[in-house]
Amino acid sequence: MPERPEQSAAGRFDTVLIANRGEIAARIQRACRELGLKTVAICSEADRHAPYGKTADSFLCIGPSTAAKSYLNQDAILLAARLAGAGAVHPGYGFLSENAAFSDAVEKAGLTFIGPTASSIATMGDKISAKRAMIAAGVPCVPGPDTALPDDPATIEHIALEIGYPVIIKAAGGGGGRGMRVVPKADVLHEAIALTREEARKAFGSPSLYMEKFLLHPRHIEIQVICDDHGNAVWLGHRDCSMQRRHQKVVEEAPAPGIAPDIIQPVGLACVQACLQIGYRGVGTFEFLYEDGAFYFIEMNTRLQVEHPVTELTSGVDIVQAQIRAAQGHGLELNQGDVTCEGHSFECRINAEDPETFLPSAGVVTHLALPAGPGIRVDTHIHAGYKVSPYYDSLIAKLIVHAPTRAEAMTRMREALADTEVEGISTNIPFLRALFEDDAFSRGETDIHYLEQWLKLRRAA
Ligand code: ADP
Repeated sequence: MPERPEQSAAGRFDTVLIANRGEIAARIQRACRELGLKTVAICSEADRHAPYGKTADSFLCIGPSTAAKSYLNQDAILLAARLAGAGAVHPGYGFLSENAAFSDAVEKAGLTFIGPTASSIATMGDKISAKRAMIAAGVPCVPGPDTALPDDPATIEHIALEIGYPVIIKAAGGGGGRGMRVVPKADVLHEAIALTREEARKAFGSPSLYMEKFLLHPRHIEIQVICDDHGNAVWLGHRDCSMQRRHQKVVEEAPAPGIAPDIIQPVGLACVQACLQIGYRGVGTFEFLYEDGAFYFIEMNTRLQVEHPVTELTSGVDIVQAQIRAAQGHGLELNQGDVTCEGHSFECRINAEDPETFLPSAGVVTHLALPAGPGIRVDTHIHAGYKVSPYYDSLIAKLIVHAPTRAEAMTRMREALADTEVEGISTNIPFLRALFEDDAFSRGETDIHYLEQWLKLRRAA
């Protein structure tokens, strides 16, 4: 573990600034309050009426509605932290959560960043160096070199031939499902590289690309880890996030169906080893593609993830509280042997978007009815009268269920979706309801391409 002397005193902060918005700002605030910590909420002008602002100990507007001028404005966030007397900053997900310079700036300002060190973020944030670190730690990766693509066309062609078509070109700094291009055969290779390089330069500020095998029918399976500052790390089971549209997750579940414990066990342990090797602190997720019985690492997310609740419900661990406690310098409260995952959990991402075209839908929520009952959880910040703004991600709520078996969890989700009513804006609820009636999904027989194919068939019908 790297030295973090200024970090070793347990319980060294009592006020947390939550540098985020929406459902995750509400979720983090709840975890802080349950730990007896004070909270500082921040907002842009568009979010002035956010409900979590009212329940925070301080609520500061840090800038205009555009994210670049508010939630991505590091100076404004650090100033708010100083003004409100915060001792720590929780970045949530998205925005500045995987920004190494921000983690560094927070710590240089004498505050605790609730997440890994800047160096861990930098290593794992660059997908090429992450792949290299994983290979060194013995974690299996997608076939392809762990180096950036050179400029020389002949060498590039040779690399593609070695891997074998189809290949995928990926931006080293990519994220959010962007900066990727599939190349089915040699004649479109150079064009695909030129387009992706330009996209990467514009979107991620770096033209660095790499190439790997494009797997034809994999599932997306990920492993949740949590580590403290004292050399302890555990994995909390696995999730399946294969239900994706445009490389973006729509429905997640834990555990991943049909994966025998003896297959996943060594992968989980390799992830724990990798964390110990890189001196990782806090929560993180190792993402894998799973095809024909083999796992291939694709990337690590060095932050809390949208889908963390399905693991909370199956493992019984409050991941956000554990993350905050680790940042306070406390040792983990559980060993690997204490981790037992029970039952099955699904999460549906409820987005303010048209269920057919998926175009974002902004406006006022005129009526809201949320499901309740055993095994049902809703993480949201919206209420009747809430104005969904066009400036940010369209996620407005997460509907999560837990039941003893996968079949029972599916039934529970179907009924919970039937009881969910959102009026005034369009949502993807009708699409989610239809998806939970699908036979192949019910049987757990899907891969990362299934949802796109399912949508195509529905449109054609
Ligand atoms: P991001 O950081 O943008 O989320 P990832 O590397 O995690 O990008 O990939 C996102 C999704 O893209 C994966 O879940 C998978 O659906 C698809 N994908 C990525 N790499 C490959 C690959 N080598 N073969 C097939 N699909 C892939």
